[in-house]
Amino acid sequence: MTQTLDIDVAIIGGGTAGMAAYEQVARHTDRVVVIDAGPWGTTCARVGCMPSKLLIAAAQAAHSVTHARTFGIEVGAPKVDGKAVMARVRAERDRFVASVLKTVESWPASHRVTGRARFVDDHTLAIEGAAPGTPTCIRAARIVIATGASSVRPPDWCQALGKRLVTHEEIFDWASLPTSVAVVGAGPLGLELAQALHQLQVRVRLYDARNQVGTLSSPALQAQCREIFGQALPLTLQAADLRIDLQSGHDGDTVRVRCPGSNAPEERFDLLLAAVGRRPNVAALDLSNTRLPLDDHGVPVFDRHSMQVGSLPVFMAGDAAADQPVLHEAAAEGRIAGTSAASYPAVQKQARRTAMQVVFSAPQLAGAGQGFEALTEAGVAFEVGRVSFADQGRAQVMAVNEGALEVYGEPGTGRLLGAEMVGPAAENIAHLLAWSVARGDTVQQMLSFPYYHPTLEEGLRTALRDLQQRLQLGHRSPTPGNAAGS
Ligand SMILES: Cc1cc2nc3c(=O)[nH]c(=O)nc-3n(C[C@H](O)[C@H](O)[C@H](O)COP(=O)(O)OP(=O)(O)OC[C@H]3O[C@@H](n4cnc5c(N)ncnc54)[C@H](O)[C@@H]3O)c2cc1C
Repeated sequence: MTQTLDIDVAIIGGGTAGMAAYEQVARHTDRVVVIDAGPWGTTCARVGCMPSKLLIAAAQAAHSVTHARTFGIEVGAPKVDGKAVMARVRAERDRFVASVLKTVESWPASHRVTGRARFVDDHTLAIEGAAPGTPTCIRAARIVIATGASSVRPPDWCQALGKRLVTHEEIFDWASLPTSVAVVGAGPLGLELAQALHQLQVRVRLYDARNQVGTLSSPALQAQCREIFGQALPLTLQAADLRIDLQSGHDGDTVRVRCPGSNAPEERFDLLLAAVGRRPNVAALDLSNTRLPLDDHGVPVFDRHSMQVGSLPVFMAGDAAADQPVLHEAAAEGRIAGTSAASYPAVQKQARRTAMQVVFSAPQLAGAGQGFEALTEAGVAFEVGRVSFADQGRAQVMAVNEGALEVYGEPGTGRLLGAEMVGPAAENIAHLLAWSVARGDTVQQMLSFPYYHPTLEEGLRTALRDLQQRLQLGHRSPTPGNAAGS
């Protein structure tokens, strides 16, 4: 029997974006529900940011042991206990999930619906798989779409490999580490996971169809990334013609990967980890039953300052919006969408934060503000200041002296526009840079700040000095130069 609920706001998706939207809406009305297909607990905590960083933390521990001899410390080769590694990943992951669930369970029970929502019309949602006694039809004056994204699983690979094809959605449940994994996709997710598995002594090869590793758009930094990661782990780029099949043998099935035209050997692996992108979860929403304007990928077209779709009472948030698929932006978009939904029709535009992204590889990658390609494509005039970490003092001390930083500045004003980096502590330096871009700092202002010696931030100062020179700005740094620190 259809159980219909009439409410003010329905939020589809109880992930980071949906939860942030709920917090805003619940301040204004009690007639709100969050609908999640389950399991609740967010992508970040269950299968995303947190378990991937737990795996990377284990990998870094193994890597530190291997490299202890650089400092004259002999501890022998690390012995990786795959079961213990995965037991810690799962246990800590479960604690993060439990903490999210505690928040969800603190909401009134009437505000939570478990089931899969799809649109019947602009204001009506059918709920599939709803538990007995819970609504199967929800009519809402306003709707937030915060359905996240899912890994792309190429159908021919699924058909050929069956369970030997995995994505990040399964791997954090492993009982132990596999012996070998082919990782396809050298974007942020594939790079992080492939390198972590490699450092944990899993035989890995990372493939990508493009001639690109990670996220950096500067040609000079991208060339460095190819070199650095090509040495750090088995890497095959320009692998557009990847041939993948399942081979049966005495020891069971293996995934055979061939890459004709490249110098990569034919290899067999236990598993193939597909990291070829994540697609917004909009296809199953039956958006064709609504008046929502859609882009070429079927994603509703929205204003990123209000998250509103056209002038309709529908709002996008998080990875479903396919704008900036990172955690802090999902939360920010959820807050904006929730505020807009709560105040509709008096929707106000809100400022967006300066863009920032970090990839937790070794060395890390980071971007802040506008990247090289975005500036170039927008026809913005800019100068580039550079520093190499190969001979940077503190980086040498710690034997992490590889990579480089580029800072982009505006001619005339000296304003910092953005930066890209591959190198040590990029996650920290990216914050300083993003904050400076957000404040509208000029290169001269940034050089007037203190730089402790010896730190990696002295490398940032060298890049800023280079930029200052290229922008032909006057010298106003009160700190004298220091060769060892620069
Ligand atoms: C492996 C990995 C590592 C990552 N690492 C980082 C990192 O280090 N730093 C960072 O900033 N970001 C990282 N991210 C990205 C970050 O996790 C996401 O940007 C963020 O979790 C997106 O949140 P969301 O609320 O949009 O989606 P989700 O948390 O996925 O929530 C969407 C929810 O919608 C539900 N849903 C979908 N369709 C329906 C429907 N029809 N009806 C009802 N419910 C539905 C789903 O069940 C899900 O619970 C990582 C992502 C991955 C995959």
